[in-house]
Parts: sequence; structure tokens; C-alpha cells
Amino acid sequence: MAEHKCGSCSGGGCATQKEDKLQKKMGRIKHKLVILSGKGGVGKSTVAANIAVGLAMAGQKVGLLDVDVHGPSIPRLLSLSNEKPHIEKDYIEPVPWSKNLWVMSLGFMLPDNKEAVIWRGPVKMGLIKQFLEDVAWGDLDFLVVDCPPGTGDEPLSTLQLIGPSAYAVIVTTPQGVAIDDVRRSVTFCHQLGNPILGIVENMSGFVCPKCGERVDIFNSGGGEALAREMGVNFLGSIPMDPEVVRSGDEGYIYVKTHHESETARALGRIIKPILELAGTLQEEQKDVSSVESSLPEVEGKEIKVAIPTAGGELCMHFGHCEKFAFVTADTEKKEILGVEFLTPPPHEPGVLPKWVSEQGANLVIAGGMGARAQSLFTEQGIKVVVGAKGGKPEEIVKAYLDKKLELGQNVCDH
Ligand code: ADP
Repeated sequence: MAEHKCGSCSGGGCATQKEDKLQKKMGRIKHKLVILSGKGGVGKSTVAANIAVGLAMAGQKVGLLDVDVHGPSIPRLLSLSNEKPHIEKDYIEPVPWSKNLWVMSLGFMLPDNKEAVIWRGPVKMGLIKQFLEDVAWGDLDFLVVDCPPGTGDEPLSTLQLIGPSAYAVIVTTPQGVAIDDVRRSVTFCHQLGNPILGIVENMSGFVCPKCGERVDIFNSGGGEALAREMGVNFLGSIPMDPEVVRSGDEGYIYVKTHHESETARALGRIIKPILELAGTLQEEQKDVSSVESSLPEVEGKEIKVAIPTAGGELCMHFGHCEKFAFVTADTEKKEILGVEFLTPPPHEPGVLPKWVSEQGANLVIAGGMGARAQSLFTEQGIKVVVGAKGGKPEEIVKAYLDKKLELGQNVCDH
């Protein structure tokens, strides 16, 4: 293991070490999905559990993490209420559900799972953090996170800890009030820079237990209309089905047992694009690492490249860097013409892309950046390269000009 040299502790678990640990852990997970909802009771946990099982049944290696401090229901949904995870000195082993699916839930830690969960705010936050840091998932294709509902401190910490590469799936019901909540969730994800995979409308219409036909008893389609209005994908709708309640109460998972029903088909339609997206994302990641093909070309003989720095070198989190280096370069002679370091304005969503554009930059090279921030730069006509690994700004730009810039994953260390 590399020697720990943060200079602010004498080893043994300071904040810097823990962040390293969390980042390494998250780096071993190909795709993170955070299941969000504007409020409780809309079926977020049910959707999270069914997505996780559906992905595992499709052969993906999946972790399901339940950090819903208000009512961790994943153990009950998966018939794991009597299980206890194995806890070692510095890691927690998740509970296996199948050969492809491992589960960790705050519910496993409660002395009695019927007990109401009354934890003070900082304790809840600490638990969420510890779960993310200490659960030994190993290499996974997907981590599905059942997040606390709403847009308060708990979902905020969860998303910040997992990082901006986590995709959000927002669950709503068709009623107007739930739709308003979901609007807030969409804004919340945009502000944090987490891409939204899509919206799921749950309890949309009713499946008659006698004939299996679907009837719309509330207005359905609100989730789809909202998705369209907010420019977000609509993943699909799941009908209200008494069998879903029974499967939840009795702890067998719906997608595994009801293959032919309307509801199972609806769940399948939601899981399919997630699997397809995984394929596309993997392709995109391969492209990012194949240097020559992925670097965007910036037109013009002279370019200005913005690079977030700390201590004169690339820093991984562009939003909280000390200074931005603006490197001017001649693209024909492939020469660096000058470097200027400027202090950015305080970090607020949308401020940096505007400021960087005002400095005349036409390219940003960063270590990590959320999809939302990337699209804000693109809107300003600034191209973005993410996944740069470190070094002095002029060396990075020279490598870019020579098409030798090595890129890794879009990792943010904030
Ligand atoms: P949340 O995680 O948003 O609080 P849950 O997943 O715990 O919500 O679901 C709340 C209740 O609604 C549970 O009793 C669950 O069985 C039920 N439920 C969820 N989705 C459906 C559905 N499509 N049809 C019928 N009942 C559902």
C-alpha cells in the first residue's frame, strides 16, 4: 500500500485517507444508480429492489445498498430480515442474496427491525458515510442505492459521497403533489451535477387481480409529461398491483416470480434501458481511454485551455480548485505560448462555465466533472476533456496538442 502523506495526521484513518478509501471503493464499481424520490411511500425501495434483482438476473454483478434511514425496508423485501452482515475491524461484508447480488442495509444494524428509527441528524450522516466507506463490495457492474427520500441533508450527503458519476433514477407516483416533489429532485440532481437516468412513474393505473387488465384510476402519465418538460428520460410506468404489496410483505421479489404479468413486463421495460445504457457507457469509457480517437479538436491556430489547479498542478475537482490555469497554445506549431493563473469566483452552479468563457477559453481539461457541468460548458461553446490524471498545466496541454494525453475515468476527488 502507498505511504500515506497528507501531512495533517499521524496515519490511521484521517479524512484524507478515508476519502482515498471511498474513492478507490467507488472506482471498482462500473455504474452507480441512486434511486431517489421526492417523498416516502412512492415505491422507491420496491423499484430499487426490483431493478437490482433484474440486473443480477441479467448476469450483472450487483450491490444493493439501502441507506434509507427513515425506514430501511430492503431486508424485508428480499427476505433477509434475520441476516446480519459479517463485520471485521475495518470492513463490513455485504449479505449475499444470490451469486450475483449482495445487499447491505441500515436495517441489518437495528437491534429489532420493528423498532422506529430515531437517530439524530449527525448520527444518520455518519452511518451513511460509514456504510459507503466500509462495505466491501469488491468489483461490481452496478451499485444500486436506495437513498433517503426528499432533497434534504441525507440524500445530499449520499450523492456527494458517491460522487457526480452516479446516475439518478427518480421514482414518482402520478398524483400532482408527487410530481411537484419530483421536480425538486430533478433540480437537486442538476445542482449536484449528477446525470439523471430517468423518471419512473410507479402506481400508474391499477391491474385488476381477477382479469389482469390495467385500469387508470388516477391520472397517469404525469411522470412522462414532467420528464418531457424537464428534458429528462422517461424510463416507464409501473401499475399499482396488489401482487407487488404481497411480494413485499412476504419477501419474495416481484420480477423474479411473476414473469408474465403486466407489472413484470413494465419492470422489464425499465431495466432494459439501464442494461443497454451500461453497454453504451462501457463503450464510451473505452473510447475515453483510447487517446487519439476521443480528444476533441478545437478549431483555430491559437487556443486557450482552462485547467483547474491546486499547488500549480491539475486538481481533480474543478469546482473547488484554488486557481484555474489558462494556457495559451499554438495548435499548428504545437507550442505553449503562455500560462496565467487566475482565482475563480466562489463555486455556485453555473458560475464557473460563464467565468471560464469570459476568460476566452475554448477548452477545459479536468480530472473529474459531473455531466451537468459538462453540458453547461458545452452550452458556452467550450469543449471538455475529463479523466486527465495530473501534472503541470503546460505539460497537460502539450500532451493534448501532441495527442498523447492519457485519460482515465471521470473521477472527482471532492
Ligand atoms: P418508499 O421506498 O418510496 O417509501 P416502498 O417501496 O416501501 O416505498 O413502497 C411503499 C408501499 O407501496 C409498500 O407497501 C409497497 O409494497 C407498495 N407498492 C410499491 N409499489 C407498488 C405497486 N406498483 N403496486 C402496489 N403497491 C406498491
